[in-house]
Amino acid sequence: MRVMLTGGAGYIGSHTAAALAARGHQVVIFDNFANAERDVPARLERLTGQKMPVIEADIRDVPAVVAALREYPVDAVIHFAALKAVGESEADPLLYYDMNIIGTIRLLQAMQQAGVARIVFSSSATVYGQPDSSPILEDFPTRVENIYGRTKLVMEDLIRDLARTGKLAAAANLRYFNPVGAHPSALIGETPRGVPNNLMPYVTQVATGARPHLNVFGNDYATPDGTGVRDYIHVVDLAEAHALALEHIVANNVSITVNLGTGEGTSVLQLVQAFETATGRKIPLVIAPRRPGDVSSYYANPALAEATFGWRAKLNVEDMCRDSWRWQASRAGINDV
Ligand code: NAD
Ligand code: UDP
Repeated sequence: MRVMLTGGAGYIGSHTAAALAARGHQVVIFDNFANAERDVPARLERLTGQKMPVIEADIRDVPAVVAALREYPVDAVIHFAALKAVGESEADPLLYYDMNIIGTIRLLQAMQQAGVARIVFSSSATVYGQPDSSPILEDFPTRVENIYGRTKLVMEDLIRDLARTGKLAAAANLRYFNPVGAHPSALIGETPRGVPNNLMPYVTQVATGARPHLNVFGNDYATPDGTGVRDYIHVVDLAEAHALALEHIVANNVSITVNLGTGEGTSVLQLVQAFETATGRKIPLVIAPRRPGDVSSYYANPALAEATFGWRAKLNVEDMCRDSWRWQASRAGINDV
């Protein structure tokens, strides 16, 4: 297939581009490079041997999207392009409504004009809000707890509505748990701007010496060691899931909403331990107050993805730590990996 990836130069998009290429698909990257590095397409070419066309434009620019889809007729779109910071979404709701919700509407309009009727969408486990329990199944109630989460839920609903009314032939809403890690080649990975909000990028920056210690946000949760539990998923596994989900919905003309996680809960302290084991680097810790809005424990039941399109995560937390570190170390010019 030929597939257009909105946000294809970003963190998850670039890994999915590599996964698609490895499965013999052609990739077209559509990205405004607002949160991506310029050399990602060149790095992808080194990694995959595929020269992927790049359209530098905004998904809200309908004529630009239509022109791209006419120049490169595609079988489907995978839609990553969005803003994703919870704090920023609360500070500037209209920015998030515009980029995420209006952006998705414009993209869907352009796809309709160009006759492209299949989409895979980056949703998030954030749509479950504070769940009553874990593991989380897809039919658990959705709850909006912040503006970012609201935009993800609205984007999912738009796509489900178009699929239900026959305007889309096939659609997959993929609810990611906590993506971490990087391609083992260290050619692509995540480059957060400024101080990382998320645990793994913060840990890797402590390991490089860029930050003195990790603040552990709370050790009095009702979890085995008191620290927050999440379902970390290696971005390489996540990328593979996109390829399999896409192939499934296209082959069967169906629409699905599916969790993508490992099904394993890992605490902050367990992740730090795994990182130290995988890398031999010590991570100094300071116990800090709970972070407002944090859920204590949160992990997927990923059985539906396996039953539907035969995917399950293969890589474990140590793999995630090793590959995150390999990427961060190579960026920092550290050569011990
Ligand atoms: P990212 O910021 O690395 O990638 C997004 C890409 O989209 C960037 O390359 C950016 O330049 C591009 N982009 C943003 N707005 C655009 C626009 N208006 N037009 C064109 N391009 C635009 O983020 P990511 O971590 O790869 O996330 C990808 C998707 O997955 C997002 O939709 C995000 O909400 C979702 N998601 C991410 C996570 C996570 O933890 N990373 C978790 C759940 C869901
Ligand atoms: N966390 C932490 N210190 C940090 C960043 C995160 O202790 O500097 C904790 C956080 O409280 C949560 C877990 O690590 O329990 C995962 O946080 P992250 O922001 O990566 O994911 P999210 O909370 O959005 O699922």
